[in-house]
Amino acid sequence: MSHNLHIAKIFSQFSPLINDDTNPYESDVVLTLKPWAVLRPKNLSELKEIIKLCALHKIPFTPCGNQTSVTGASVSDQSIVISTEKLKSVSEISKNSEGLASIQVEPGILLSDLQDHVESLGYYYPPDPTSREEVFLGGTIATNATGENSYHYGSTRNYILSLDVIDAQGQFKTIQRQASPLDLSKKKNLAGFHLGEEIDPWIGSEGTLGIICSAKLLLLPKPNPFQSFLLFFPNEPDALNFSNSIHNFREKLSLRCLEYMDIQATEYMRLKSKRLIIPKDVYTIYLKIEETSSIDQDSILELLYNEYNAILPDDDSLFDQALFAQDHSELLEFRRVRHHVPATINELATINKSMGGGKVSSDWWVPNDKIIEMFTFLRELQANIDCKCAIFGHIGNGHPHVNMIATNQTLKDQSLEFTKQCIQKAVSLGGGACGEHGLGKIKTWALALQWSNQDIDQMKQVKQFWDPCNLSSPGNIFS
Ligand SMILES: Cc1cc2nc3c(=O)[nH]c(=O)nc-3n(C[C@H](O)[C@H](O)[C@H](O)COP(=O)(O)OP(=O)(O)OC[C@H]3O[C@@H](n4cnc5c(N)ncnc54)[C@H](O)[C@@H]3O)c2cc1C
Repeated sequence: MSHNLHIAKIFSQFSPLINDDTNPYESDVVLTLKPWAVLRPKNLSELKEIIKLCALHKIPFTPCGNQTSVTGASVSDQSIVISTEKLKSVSEISKNSEGLASIQVEPGILLSDLQDHVESLGYYYPPDPTSREEVFLGGTIATNATGENSYHYGSTRNYILSLDVIDAQGQFKTIQRQASPLDLSKKKNLAGFHLGEEIDPWIGSEGTLGIICSAKLLLLPKPNPFQSFLLFFPNEPDALNFSNSIHNFREKLSLRCLEYMDIQATEYMRLKSKRLIIPKDVYTIYLKIEETSSIDQDSILELLYNEYNAILPDDDSLFDQALFAQDHSELLEFRRVRHHVPATINELATINKSMGGGKVSSDWWVPNDKIIEMFTFLRELQANIDCKCAIFGHIGNGHPHVNMIATNQTLKDQSLEFTKQCIQKAVSLGGGACGEHGLGKIKTWALALQWSNQDIDQMKQVKQFWDPCNLSSPGNIFS
């Protein structure tokens, strides 16, 4: 009997997909790997049974959400894949004695569906990856997802009150957060496990400890409406200096997001934008401000103008072309256009993959006051590589995404070397290797660029505790 048929027999009561039927589960954004079989449990008891069988027969498994990972984390040719797509139940919203609202949710619900649902009831679940309309809640927890609003609200970790998990030995456990998640650091960091409380390594575990089968999420009251601005600059230093100066007004402005798109990323927005008139050959700062009673519209515009003018005293022509979204549909258009940046980069990566090239991206982060030094370093190095480079993202967190689009293998190798040097520099400046996407299978080498052997040994002990036989997501995080 072939290996796959043998696996199919073990799980026969759960109608596993094998051979060609696994095709829809073989690719994320960067890797295509054929799993031994795909299982799609219909409920918690099926999921428990499946993991027990994995533990009994020592069958490795990789949990998956909607497979939007950009690191190969959700695909595998060394295991079965367990899709959480049918586990979508959502509880009523409840409040504790202190008035904190929460909701219990299974991992297969689409993040945007969950967010729309709680917003219709007057609440807010902040984690907002740009892929929010394509990702499952479980995937966002297992990657500690962040987004543009993480500048103010922090990462997914800040909103997890408890997790129900099944570890790789098949044991079910509810793990409560002891401290208030809102008191945790809002720093982005996703290179290996976060060794805080018992719950912490699971958030950002990239499937390596077992499977998250339900989560109790903290909900905030729905905030006031946001206003968004796209401000344009003739060059990178001016845009970055403006970002730094606006960061100083984050409280006064109720700033919720502070993002950057370099000239190439802005061009991707411009080409895909239908309604927004984006100038050519410019650099963009994207701001989101919550409407509050403490500052009125005119004062916001005056403050933005004054800061702009302080950096570009002789030329405010691009300030006049700034775009301003006030109502909900305009805000959605801004988001849509912003989302085109990673989406276009991923499309180009796929096209170039067939020629031996592809995308080499990084999501290192540095303390905010080191961002200019970091950009000076990276632009000098990057100028020697004949690749398109698009930089965009969470500049307010010192966390831009640098994307090299290589058209052949040589350029890809050079881009990888460049990326490693950037990570080393970021770590030397007090930052980290990875702020958002995790290490998955393609960046396991970055773990040792940030952490000492002793730190990595501690992470391995956590892995050993929950998954002593190394069954859960083999190849993720630890090479
Ligand atoms: C265009 C684009 C834009 C993106 N923008 C952002 C962004 O702004 N911010 C951001 O953080 N990410 C972003 N991403 C990356 C990706 O969307 C996130 O990592 C997302 O959280 C993954 O969710 P998913 O449902 O697709 O999970 P998957 O890709 O299926 O899985 C991701 C990881 O989680 C594990 N996993 C999934 N479900 C479970 C579970 N129930 N239990 C245990 N482990 C599990 C998998 O094993 C895998 O390691 C972007 C991706 C794309 C393609």
